[in-house]
Amino acid sequence: MIEHADDEHPWSTAPVRDGEPITGSCDHCEWYAVADSYAVMVKRYQDHLRDAHPDAWLRA
Ligand SMILES: [Zn+2]
Repeated sequence: MIEHADDEHPWSTAPVRDGEPITGSCDHCEWYAVADSYAVMVKRYQDHLRDAHPDAWLRA
């Protein structure tokens, strides 16, 4: 069952494969990042939101 709207975490729709870096992109600008794990990706994206899109970060 899907409990959350897909657009809540737009970067989570990318397939995750073991041993491959995870890439994420911002829904509000051209920012993107590469991380070794999903947890790191989440932290990087939240840090970016807090720094660049504080309004979006507060709603996250
Ligand atoms: Zn951004």
